[in-house]
Amino acid sequence: MAEKKEKAYKIVQEHEKCIGCGACASICDNWIIGNDGKAKPKKTTISEKELKCNKDAESSCPVNCIHVK
Ligand code: SF4
Repeated sequence: MAEKKEKAYKIVQEHEKCIGCGACASICDNWIIGNDGKAKPKKTTISEKELKCNKDAESSCPVNCIHVK
């Protein structure tokens, strides 16, 4: 019998569009502000249990540059 695989989600950020407001990083610990003053995801593949805060980051981003698929 095949093992049940946990569903994975992908994080895509349009890095150029980020204005470095920090909203994502304050909401979700998968997000940090890098040396260039823009946010970046620590992980680009996340599990179901990490989905919620990344979704919250996605919806809180003022320039809509975070996409969770
Ligand atoms: S919320 Fe959006 S604009 Fe603000 S730091 Fe995060 S990715 Fe950048």
